[in-house]
Amino acid sequence: MEESPTREELKQRISELEKEVESYAVLGQDEKYRILFEKSKDAILIIKNEKFVDCNQATIDMLGYKNKNEFLQTHPSELSPDTQTYGRDSFTKANEMMDLALKNGSNRFEWDHIRANGEVFPVEVLLTTISNQKGDRVIHAIWRDITERKLEEKARQKEKETFSIILESTPHGITLIDSHNKYLYVNPYFTEITGYTLKDIPTREDWFKKAYPEKNYRKKVCEAWGNDSNDKGQGKNHEFKIKCKNGQSKFIEFRSTFLKDRTISVLTDITEQNQAKQELKLLNLRLKHEATHDPLTGALNRRAILDNLTKELIRAKRRNTKLSIGLCDIDHFKLVNDRHGHQVGDDVLCSFVKVMQNTLRPYDLLGRYGGEEFLLVMPDSIVSAEEGVYDRLRAKIADHKMITRSGEVSITISIGITSSTGDETSDAMIAKADVALYRAKENGRNQLVFAD
Ligand code: GH3
Ligand code: MG
Ligand code: MG
Repeated sequence: MEESPTREELKQRISELEKEVESYAVLGQDEKYRILFEKSKDAILIIKNEKFVDCNQATIDMLGYKNKNEFLQTHPSELSPDTQTYGRDSFTKANEMMDLALKNGSNRFEWDHIRANGEVFPVEVLLTTISNQKGDRVIHAIWRDITERKLEEKARQKEKETFSIILESTPHGITLIDSHNKYLYVNPYFTEITGYTLKDIPTREDWFKKAYPEKNYRKKVCEAWGNDSNDKGQGKNHEFKIKCKNGQSKFIEFRSTFLKDRTISVLTDITEQNQAKQELKLLNLRLKHEATHDPLTGALNRRAILDNLTKELIRAKRRNTKLSIGLCDIDHFKLVNDRHGHQVGDDVLCSFVKVMQNTLRPYDLLGRYGGEEFLLVMPDSIVSAEEGVYDRLRAKIADHKMITRSGEVSITISIGITSSTGDETSDAMIAKADVALYRAKENGRNQLVFAD
């Protein structure tokens, strides 16, 4: 039969049990840390005097070694390529990093490591000094594989570069404004077009004042901007004349996109395009003018005055009004040429047209029918009423001295006149006027004759 323990024995037993519990507790704590160490996805290593003395499973997996022993036998220098990114030699740089960790207590940096299969990969390293005694330098290291992060960074960088290329090589100005109308960005082409950099135009206000110095014009531009921004989304296309930094004026086409907190504007320099358009317009006008006007005197040419006559005849018929025509021929013009030369004759023709045009009413038409023969078309008129007008013209020419390069020359004209209500053709009218003109010449010139 077992004896019941003595009080001393019990005390002893309790003390032993307490010790055991205590040691279990310690063991339990150790186990906890071991789990933290082994389960970590980051590699955790202990480096003592430049040698690996312990590492977790993640280290072995990350670097692709068979087991801990194989790994611990490698020298730290075998785990890095010869050089790091940006060309630094790994050995020198590793020493620097260690020294910094020893000096500052810890050091965080990025590093290229090499796996057992030779593959280089990026890690983020955190070195923490555990002991910095001479001959007993212990460093705790955590390595985190940042391959994914680096790939993402690279992709982001690539994306950024692509955007930069687009923004910097497009032949359009591009600007970005925030919701407080502050400029966030202007691309280089914007500066090329306008001369303004981000510094010149901190806000939209500054841009408006510089680009549109004229107050009323600026108001117009502001209104257009305001309307577009109220509508949000894609604004309308606008053409504005801006003043560049160097004082030059340019025509710019603007398109703005209004986002929630930003506005993107695209500017296209259409100055040359506009100039080309303008030139084309002028050229067209000139061609049209040349096609309808006599190059010497500037009066309508034969075809144009006949076209006008036809048109006026149709109109007279439709409106039931009369129109008259006068065929004017300069008297003895051959003599002018013979006496003063052909060039002076030309001057007389020009002078004659000027005097006639200054004397005619705005709706009367004058054309050069041939050589020194001119056709007058007077719409909405009847001959009796026009008699005075034709004679005033005749008298004016007779009285007026024609200005020429060789001084003043006097001439007279004879006019054959006929009228119509629109039933005759222009040819028939001219034939009648021609007969009348012939009679005026026969009757002694410097006079009017009305056709029968
Ligand atoms: P009439 O009173 O009978 O009309 O006599 P005229 O001398 O005016 O008549 P004619 O038809 O014989 O002569 C017309 C002259 O006009 C002949 C021609 O050399 C001249 N003439 C025609 N066109 C031009 C021109 O463009 N410039 C010059 N300088 N002379 C011209
Ligand atoms: Mg003549
Ligand atoms: Mg003639």
